[in-house]
Amino acid sequence: MVSLGTTRMAEFEGIVMFRRDYRERDMLVKILTDHYGFKMFFVRGARKRGFKLGAAILPFTTASYTGTINDDGLSFIDAVKDVAQYQQICQDILLNAYATYILGLVAAAFGDARPLGIWYPRIVAALAAIDHGLDAGIVTNIVELQLLENFGVKPNLKGCVICGRQSGTFDFSESYGGLLCQQHWSVDRNRMHLDQRTVYFMRFLARVDLLRLRSINLKEETKVKLRDTLDQIYNNDVGVSLKPKHFLDEMLKQNQNILKLRPGIDK
Ligand SMILES: [Zn+2]
Repeated sequence: MVSLGTTRMAEFEGIVMFRRDYRERDMLVKILTDHYGFKMFFVRGARKRGFKLGAAILPFTTASYTGTINDDGLSFIDAVKDVAQYQQICQDILLNAYATYILGLVAAAFGDARPLGIWYPRIVAALAAIDHGLDAGIVTNIVELQLLENFGVKPNLKGCVICGRQSGTFDFSESYGGLLCQQHWSVDRNRMHLDQRTVYFMRFLARVDLLRLRSINLKEETKVKLRDTLDQIYNNDVGVSLKPKHFLDEMLKQNQNILKLRPGIDK
């Protein structure tokens, strides 16, 4: 790799986030790269018939690219190899909504110019897990919980924020930024009043290693509560409002309605 100020030739891996038409024959492609974070690529001739890099710039494709990375402005792709696609994510609109939200959340946490470090392999693992059929809602919760730190919110899920006790009955307090043991519930009248199962899985999922996650199953009820809890934390404490999240919420609402209308339907 040669670095010349803000432009460098590089080999890098990436995940295509989205693309859009640009001018008459070209495209702009946003790729999450392993070492340079999110980058916008100008792909000349991408809309011409028979364009040879076509498969490498489809959303939810991973590949090894060779090209020019610019710190400011657009970057460029010269060659591509090892192209693969997250097939299930591409075919299933709900999985697609989850994956799009995850990428959007990471983009919100890191911005455009910052490398992701350990978060790149984590995101690759999260998308692969979803693609391989692990529960997309739980994988998303793991990403949300573990990303909180990158948004400047680092809830203490180890023990009571007042006395440090690590076992027993806990609740979560947004204003104290962490757990409260039952003895200290009185310090926050607005504690979240979570049930113990939800608290347990918040603590557990916050520590799960995405790179080693092979299977995970939770009760439907617990999943709904985790979703609500994380929505509350993201709305109140993080304060990001992402379009892909609103889209995902709509999809989930529609799914719920279908389930209500037809009890016993297979998911
Ligand atoms: Zn305590």
